Amino acid sequence: MKNLFGMGAGEITAELLQWNLPGYRGKQIAEWMYQKGAMSFAEMTNLPEKLRGALSKEYEILRADCRDSQFSADGKTAKFLLGFSDGTAVETVLMRQSYGNSICVSTQAGCNMGCVFCASTLHGMARNLLAGEILAQAIHIQEMLRREAAGQKVDTMVIMGSGEPLMNYENVVRFLRLCHADDVMGMGYRNMTISTSGIVPNIYRLMEEGIPVSLSISLHAPDDALRSRLMPINRKYPLADVIKAGTAYGEKTGRRVTYEYILIDHVNDGEEQAEELVALLRGKLASVNLIPINPVVERNLNRPSKQRVEWFEKYLFAHHIPVTLRREMGADIQAACGQLRNKNMT
Ligand code: SAH
Repeated sequence: MKNLFGMGAGEITAELLQWNLPGYRGKQIAEWMYQKGAMSFAEMTNLPEKLRGALSKEYEILRADCRDSQFSADGKTAKFLLGFSDGTAVETVLMRQSYGNSICVSTQAGCNMGCVFCASTLHGMARNLLAGEILAQAIHIQEMLRREAAGQKVDTMVIMGSGEPLMNYENVVRFLRLCHADDVMGMGYRNMTISTSGIVPNIYRLMEEGIPVSLSISLHAPDDALRSRLMPINRKYPLADVIKAGTAYGEKTGRRVTYEYILIDHVNDGEEQAEELVALLRGKLASVNLIPINPVVERNLNRPSKQRVEWFEKYLFAHHIPVTLRREMGADIQAACGQLRNKNMT
């Protein structure tokens, strides 16, 4: 059996070419799978009965099944452990924000970047997800929202769950194009943000795809020595090259690049780092998103005091670096990367 979930309308039409079907059948099947929640071909009532029977014999529709879920006390954040047919499971988060429903999807099961502050990488990487498996996460939440209220949908998306998206490049770009397609989710590229630890060659590649998604770069340190200690990938793609790629991406797409900066107590939250960070980003089309670290029990890294976080934010602001402090959601349900999956692995 071949899986159709994850193919766009055009690909379905091409797949069924030898069946001599009219071109609009691909679009109809896509709409059933992605917009009407069809689990089987039998439900696709605008297809001829004979075709539905024939499709069921050769094709299947593989979605994600929900293995576990957690809901924050305020009801705004929900986290799901979604599983695929081979038993692999990943985390997907829904955040109900004032500006709409935002989701966070995973691109790999686990991660092998080895960042010292991150729970996703603790057990290494199991495998890359297919485009259809990343899409299945988004569709799972979209369908849940639609069941709650007509017209409710996923409004924005961040590719910031487990995994390094630019190490699973083809599947991630295929997924972004699928989300954008009218017969899939019809989401604007500007409502999608991809977050990377700084895979330099693939930042340049992404810039040439003609898909103006927003880019976030995980910086976390303003010098190579500290960044290499926190993020081993810095030894391969050092800071200067990462910033250069980010700047090029911003210039080419006209989109302001966001640099994520986790604040870790007595590690990267000092005056020296604040000064270096300002020097690094001065004059660039860039902003900094400060994230007080979500402590991971397996690691001995702590969150700085509130005063320290405020001091760091004010310092950047005073030195004309656009800065935002990430609003925390879902700390009570361990919404930091990888924590729900780890709980289910042990
Ligand atoms: N691999 C990509 C995307 C996944 S991580 C990347 O590195 O950007 C998404 C974001 O969550 C990154 O900025 C990452 O550094 C951050 N993150 C990881 N662990 C965290 C923690 N314990 N507390 C706060 N943010 C964390």
